[in-house]
Amino acid sequence: MNKLLLALIIPIYLLSGVSLASEKAKMSVTYLPASKADLRYQGIIKRSEINQLVQALAETYFTFNNPLQIEYGSQDGPLYDPNSHTIHIPYSFIVDSIDYFIQNAYKAELADSAEQAAVDALLHTLLHEIAHAYIADNGIPILGKEEDAADNFAAIIMLNYIDAGDDALLNAADLFALESEHRPDFYELGEYIDEHSFDLQRYFSSLCLVYGSEPEKYPALLNEIEKDYRVDRKSFCIEHFQVITKNWQGYFAH
Ligand SMILES: [Zn+2]
Repeated sequence: MNKLLLALIIPIYLLSGVSLASEKAKMSVTYLPASKADLRYQGIIKRSEINQLVQALAETYFTFNNPLQIEYGSQDGPLYDPNSHTIHIPYSFIVDSIDYFIQNAYKAELADSAEQAAVDALLHTLLHEIAHAYIADNGIPILGKEEDAADNFAAIIMLNYIDAGDDALLNAADLFALESEHRPDFYELGEYIDEHSFDLQRYFSSLCLVYGSEPEKYPALLNEIEKDYRVDRKSFCIEHFQVITKNWQGYFAH
């Protein structure tokens, strides 16, 4: 059974019999034809039920004015195309994520399989792309990097509204760390002007929000950072989680 369960705050009837293409839902999910190899990954996505989860969250918190399409099996992505109001996610995204986690013998000693970790990373990515779509759909002003705002959206949704969302976000964060493992200490100058923060920054930003959401549960989560910074960062993260949650909630239906 998938460990991602909606918090009780969402009535269970929203999850049962949800029609992904219903008028009310305004969110449709399509799967492009998959190769024999990709069929397995298509199956993982379907069985994870993350689309139903996101669907229920959208009905409760982030309602779309214009129908949003989510398309799996696209060539490019993950990305949000504002022209067609469509999110594209290639099958290769989940393939590559599973590979990353397997190569790093992901949490072999724990219950989380590489497959579950990849599903968690996919959920984070899906919510990140939904943030771009929601920003466009509602004309939300962005005062800073939109990419960071989208990461924050994904994080606070997972931490506030999804059971075990903290575990899932930590797995998604680990993928950022794994992706930056073989990077040099210094980047190309052009990368400093990229719209995304560096993967390692995205990793620590996620950790910061997880810590800030429940500091008593995660006293050692920020121990990777130098001791001199730790006290300041810990109090910043607690406040940051509250500010980001409150500000995004200002644009939610509830
Ligand atoms: Zn983005």
